[in-house]
Amino acid sequence: MQKVTLNNGIEMPILGFGVYQIEDENQCEQTVYDALKAGYRLIDTAAAYMNEESVGRAIKRSDVPREELFITTKLWVQDAGYESTKKAFEKSLERLQLDYLDLYLIHRPFGDVYGSWRAMEELYREGKIKAIGVSNFEMDRLVDLMVHNEVIPAVNQIETHPFCQQIESAKYMKEHNIQIESWGPLAEGKNNIFQNEVLVAIGEKYNKSVAQVILRWLTQRGVVAIPKSVRKERIIENFNIFDFELSKEDLERITAIDKKQSLYPTKRDPEEAKRYANIKFDI
Ligand code: NAP
Repeated sequence: MQKVTLNNGIEMPILGFGVYQIEDENQCEQTVYDALKAGYRLIDTAAAYMNEESVGRAIKRSDVPREELFITTKLWVQDAGYESTKKAFEKSLERLQLDYLDLYLIHRPFGDVYGSWRAMEELYREGKIKAIGVSNFEMDRLVDLMVHNEVIPAVNQIETHPFCQQIESAKYMKEHNIQIESWGPLAEGKNNIFQNEVLVAIGEKYNKSVAQVILRWLTQRGVVAIPKSVRKERIIENFNIFDFELSKEDLERITAIDKKQSLYPTKRDPEEAKRYANIKFDI
């Protein structure tokens, strides 16, 4: 598996498996188990997905040695702040049946993220987390966090797919040695992405599916991708992307379909901040 090296020297697989919206416990355990058997080593979950326990059971059942795995989870908004973060971290670790995390992310930039970051810096220095980072941080928030703290985030996980390519943000993060990680790499299957004529044509040329073209395009850009699927054949398909390489011309054809548009256009609406303050999970 190809890897990227984070700003603290830790290696992270460039392709992983995401488990958002796999709520059924047995299904989640089975899909993570299938993913590990297919060769994935990076698993991306979150306290807010309410499935860390299933992920933990799948990891245990798989018998993959711990040092081969790269496990990410995320701190939800309701647990922002120094003390709450320490408690939330311990709970996540317990649910995952792990004694350390590879990557812990602040899920969304709301609440006392500075208190959270100080707690995460301590946990990182104690060796309980190999790398710490953020998710859904626009560049202004990212810089603000960087300049007011000691540890620079290793990763920023943001929406990145052919219709929201994040070219400027990726360039900026690269300059600051922060790894971009794509969530929603397949645009969550929305906006007819699998029927997009440019992607279909490129797929036909390489004898690959649209999903494989997208994941190859992301990884060739140096973007870590974590596609989700509950279907075993797709889990395997999404992993088989390292036996071909997109040409410069085909990469440019994909660049040209960027709409620079989020699947969730209201995300910078101030009302969203209120909404996130009120989303509480039983975690
Ligand atoms: P995604 O991976 O872009 O797309 C998943 C959708 O694509 C599902 O409907 C899946 O259906 C379908 N799919 C998967 N492989 C396919 C294939 N080869 N051919 C056709 N359809 C395929 O969406 P996502 O789950 O939202 O994003 C991936 C991961 O990113 C998440 O699981 C989560 O770990 C992370 N994430 C993070 C945030 C954040 O705020 N940090 C937000 C969203 C997601 P089936 O399952 O039926 O195959």
